[in-house]
Amino acid sequence: MKVIGLIGGMSWNSSLEYYRLINELVSRKLGGLHSARVVLYSLDFEEIELAQRESRWHDAASVLTKAAIALKRAGADFLLICTNTMHKVADEVGESAGLPILHIVDATGNAIREQGLSKVGLLGTRFVMAEQFYRGRLKKRFDIDVVVPAEDEQAIVQRIIYDELCRGKIRGLSRQSCLEIIEKLTERGAEGVVLGCTELPLLIRPSDVQVPVFDTTRLHAEAAVEMALSGGGTD
Ligand code: GLU
Repeated sequence: MKVIGLIGGMSWNSSLEYYRLINELVSRKLGGLHSARVVLYSLDFEEIELAQRESRWHDAASVLTKAAIALKRAGADFLLICTNTMHKVADEVGESAGLPILHIVDATGNAIREQGLSKVGLLGTRFVMAEQFYRGRLKKRFDIDVVVPAEDEQAIVQRIIYDELCRGKIRGLSRQSCLEIIEKLTERGAEGVVLGCTELPLLIRPSDVQVPVFDTTRLHAEAAVEMALSGGGTD
């Protein structure tokens, strides 16, 4: 089984989910007392969030790269960056650390295509919704069109993520706001919705939504387990 290196703490609320999901999946697949081989480097999110807000992406990438190198030294065979947003610097981190990064957009794009969908709504941080590094990869690699909320709605989702979910606060009113935003995306033709923030699945369940929901935390964890159990690796 290969060793999975997790760059987490962005926020730690979703890193907990990654750890739980990865172990549950390995246990289900291998049975007995099997559990995943994992090394976790959990960052101080305050530092990362400040760099995001001040557009110091190279500084944030340097922090992630240090973590990636430490994970490599600790025996990780490949890496997961446990946040959608920080995939903005995934190439830089992977190249500097010299380890493969299992990209969250690829795990998500594959799942969308498996369900035969070609147009999805996207909820996430404003970086994920407004910039091209995420939507562009879905279009380029998977030919998936993306609809995003209007600017004022993006601000609502951004506030819910950073002021509530990343602080462990789950509020019914915020769930309602997100569901209303998702409904508008489906009215604009979205056949499914991507929860493109690893904390959003803590707020929104697939059963809350009429169309298929793509939980990026779960999809990323599933892809990691598949890779960890594929041939080769540590032993
Ligand atoms: N975990 C969130 C995401 O998936 C937001 C936190 C961050 O900015 O990294 O994008």
